[in-house]
Amino acid sequence: MKRPKLFPLRPLEIGTPQAESLSSYVCRLAEAHSLGVATLIRWVLVPEIGIEDHGKGLRYLSSSGHLVNGVGKVAKDWLEALVRLTEGIVPLIGTNLLPLNPVSTPRHLLRKNTAWCPQCLEESISRDEGPHEPLLWSILLVRSCPKHETLLSEICPYCKNKVPYFSANRRVGCCAVCRRWLGGEYEPLEGRPEGGAEALARSAEIVGKLLADLPSLDRKIAPESLAKGIRTTIELSSGGNLTVFARKIGKKKGAVSAWRSGKVVPSFQELVRISFATGIPLTSILTGKFPENINFQTKEAVEWVPMKKTKSGNSYKNCETALRKALRTGLERDPPPSIATITKEIGVPTRYAWLYCPDLAREVSERRKNFLALSFDMRESVFMEELFMTIKGLEKLGIYPSLGKIGEKIIRKAKLRRDQGRILWEAEIKS
Ligand SMILES: [Zn+2]
Ligand SMILES: [Zn+2]
Repeated sequence: MKRPKLFPLRPLEIGTPQAESLSSYVCRLAEAHSLGVATLIRWVLVPEIGIEDHGKGLRYLSSSGHLVNGVGKVAKDWLEALVRLTEGIVPLIGTNLLPLNPVSTPRHLLRKNTAWCPQCLEESISRDEGPHEPLLWSILLVRSCPKHETLLSEICPYCKNKVPYFSANRRVGCCAVCRRWLGGEYEPLEGRPEGGAEALARSAEIVGKLLADLPSLDRKIAPESLAKGIRTTIELSSGGNLTVFARKIGKKKGAVSAWRSGKVVPSFQELVRISFATGIPLTSILTGKFPENINFQTKEAVEWVPMKKTKSGNSYKNCETALRKALRTGLERDPPPSIATITKEIGVPTRYAWLYCPDLAREVSERRKNFLALSFDMRESVFMEELFMTIKGLEKLGIYPSLGKIGEKIIRKAKLRRDQGRILWEAEIKS
């Protein structure tokens, strides 16, 4: 078999709502080769795509990085180039929205800069695979994390900049500008919508389910199947009555009629809204294929404009003193506990720490963040050190350091197994 030009790193969580985005994959790929992101893009990817002027590759570093995750030509070029560079060994379908190409317009589809869930990032640090950025976060419509029910962050808490998808040495989960780790649990209080939590959560969930289905959608969606999907949706949810359906999704009858006949393709936002109002999965609407026992709700559809009121603080009115004390003690503890842990211990919602003691909360969170960032780097370097010593030790004994032999000696065997391709590849390059 031909050796691929790039190590075929596996994209993470493909086929799930947390599927890794292509932009995140490129960053991790650069890191796996000990290359800067800019170097990988400029000297490996762009020549493979066939853009003659290498300088053009750099525009992705500033303003156009998001296109990589989208439905258009850039998304197609990058995906195909990466498939060629890795010899198609790992499936990359589902890392961007390309499968939606025939039925989607790129307008208002993607965020121009990254968004992230600090808690997802924080949790990912204890995984062997390390952090990745899900495609879900790059979709403009998705504003909350379905896992943690918090708003996604879009501004770096340290340097207050927006974070582009790529920069010269960007690492996944880190700010592209100040390069600091973005995981943690600080909660952006500004811009928090008054109500809307339920609507936000549900639309994130709807989109997440679609992303999980992306790998199986490849080249199977045609505009005709979308028109069929809409017809069936109207049939199932409103008994075929166009007026009822139009009212249900808050649209004019004429618009719905044009979708039904296939003359007009609804925007992504409108598609999510249809799924939202009818309870029919987005994948079914897009493909026109409905599972037999489809479970949708026509009676109790949640309104697009959310109804959930934010809780009043009454029941926790006197928690401030206890909170302050717990946070102070938290600052002394080792290893540094998270704010979630501290507040859970005294039975107060996490966000109250930020509401009542923002300064203390920041201190606790900062301490935790530094601890986590450090332990991630340390785990990596400890592993590489151990690997190096094992290889040297085997060589000294006159034993060929095969993966099997290394595996017998090394503690984190799972990591070795997963990264063995990379390690072999690196060893081959060195020899
Ligand atoms: Zn999350
Ligand atoms: Zn920053």
